Amino acid sequence: VNRPILFLDVDGVLNPFAGKPERRPDGYETHRITPAGWGAPLRVWLNPSHGPMLLDLAERAGIELVWATTWEHQANEQIGPRIGLPELPVVEFGSALSSGAWKWAAVAEYADGRPLAWFDDDFQAQPARLGFDLARRNMPTRLCRIDPAVGLVQSDLDAVEKWANDLAPVDEVLYHMDGGRMVATIDYVRQVEHHLCLDDRALSQRIADFTVAEIERVGKQSAVMYFDDLGQGPFCSWCGQITGLCSHVMRNGPIPSNTNKIGAPTAS
Ligand SMILES: [Mg+2]
Ligand SMILES: [Zn+2]
Repeated sequence: VNRPILFLDVDGVLNPFAGKPERRPDGYETHRITPAGWGAPLRVWLNPSHGPMLLDLAERAGIELVWATTWEHQANEQIGPRIGLPELPVVEFGSALSSGAWKWAAVAEYADGRPLAWFDDDFQAQPARLGFDLARRNMPTRLCRIDPAVGLVQSDLDAVEKWANDLAPVDEVLYHMDGGRMVATIDYVRQVEHHLCLDDRALSQRIADFTVAEIERVGKQSAVMYFDDLGQGPFCSWCGQITGLCSHVMRNGPIPSNTNKIGAPTAS
């Protein structure tokens, strides 16, 4: 699966620990939590709306949420339930955190080629970062630094949603052929439903079917033949096949000017 992953830090992101002690940020509740292996409880500020906000983002943008925090598995026990998050997968850092590697290598390894967004307050620029940048070259990667005095806000989520929606899924299939008719795939129907804010699946399907047929029609109108760098061709610029193997109308020169413009004066 090539679903994007959103990695979540706790301290500095969900817990704005750097806020002024006497001024808890709006919307947050104070918890006293003693992580296993700690003697004294920690003061942790958590915002109960964060869970629903993150789940909403995950649902709408098709993103998988994964913990990337020093709390590791304790995030599922101590943090998630307090803000309405279900159990999430966890990146395990082992001893890397205390060595110079910080979270870089473990996160890159976990993402393993999938698009990656990351909320953290502390993207340290140690040498280990170079390995991360190298591992992630040419892969969609968005590091979102969160102010640890403020914590996660809706505009951070909006930015990630936009990033996820703008990822170009190269292997995305928009339609399949059914008896010579183009039928939109369920994934594309869902996109149409989301973008047009519809709640009627049958209507979404009709609109999506119409849209894929229109995309094809527009493609045909703009198709020209071309030769590649090796002089081979001619190919169809719309579908890439040798000219004549596809049914796309070839035209040379620009697309004709709009002859059916709404509101244009009619010839008398
Ligand atoms: Mg942090
Ligand atoms: Zn073609």
